[in-house]
Amino acid sequence: MPKVTFNTQHKSFYSSLQKKVETYFKERRIKKTGDQRLFFKAFLLIFSAGLVYVLLLTVRLHPVAGLLLCGLMGFLLATIGFNVMHDANHGSFSDKRWINEALSLTANLMGVNAWLWRQKHNLIHHTFTNLDGVDEDLATTSLLRMGPYQKKYKVHRYQAFYCIPVYGLTSLMWTFFSDFKKYFTRKIQVTALSEMSYGEHIIFWSSKILYAFLFIGLPVYLLGFLPFLAGFLVMHLVLGITLAVVFQLAHVVEATHFEDAHKEDLHIGQEWAVHQVRTTADFATGNPVISWLTGGLNFQVEHHLFPRISHIHYPVIQRMVKETCADFGIRYNGYPTMWAAFRSHLRLMKQLGIQ
Ligand SMILES: [Zn+2]
Repeated sequence: MPKVTFNTQHKSFYSSLQKKVETYFKERRIKKTGDQRLFFKAFLLIFSAGLVYVLLLTVRLHPVAGLLLCGLMGFLLATIGFNVMHDANHGSFSDKRWINEALSLTANLMGVNAWLWRQKHNLIHHTFTNLDGVDEDLATTSLLRMGPYQKKYKVHRYQAFYCIPVYGLTSLMWTFFSDFKKYFTRKIQVTALSEMSYGEHIIFWSSKILYAFLFIGLPVYLLGFLPFLAGFLVMHLVLGITLAVVFQLAHVVEATHFEDAHKEDLHIGQEWAVHQVRTTADFATGNPVISWLTGGLNFQVEHHLFPRISHIHYPVIQRMVKETCADFGIRYNGYPTMWAAFRSHLRLMKQLGIQ
């Protein structure tokens, strides 16, 4: 892995911002973790997913109604991923460690190993954001050219047209391929994994078996193979597209910056926090429905600067981030609507395919 260093001499942007954020929490005497609003949302989403799962397996439904419910299941799993799994794995869902640890396992229930996710997301993506060659979020498949420093193939000319169906394979790939690749190669792209404990090995295999039982074995036994297969694919298609689109809109849009970290050691001229602002974009932060559903992932700039603070606090923190960016002359990236960010993503994909 190339050695990546940030400017550690000038850290005044982050220290100034941190001071404001710390003062806000101290003065109001509120916790940085989630509160009743988040706990209620988590309960509602998990309960709804459980209800849809039971309905699908126990009630004789018209095939169209069944497939629609499978799509809803995929969407609910994505929202649990955004609101519960993501926060719990960052340790920001609750101030009780055991609650975060328990809820981080919602990832395993969705087919993705939480320990490997933390390595990929918390350690690599959050530190080396948009560093092409290190940040695995940019290296999903060679079918897509997601950064200006990636090899270009002829097929990429059409990627703006086919990227959305490819995103539909995201969760299937994580569940059945990427997790095992990371587990057996002991690395994520170029970064070596830290040591996995015996307990984590047991959790890895037992949750893969539990997933196969709940999402494959039991549905095949109760519904038959073809109904299972159709429903399973629809669920993953919706889950994959929802997850991928929300993550892409935050980093792979025209406003964000990329760095080449394929070969040589890389020194980033800015402090780490400024790099986070340059490589990340917010979207639709004034839309309460999108903010509620995406678990604050539309406040991605604030999340990258304060990943251990619950997303319920991001609207307040956003004001401080904007103000500090203006003070330091740093451009703050944000799209007013999700549609504007989506169009920007497609424009960038088109550009990356031809330039
Ligand atoms: Zn995160």
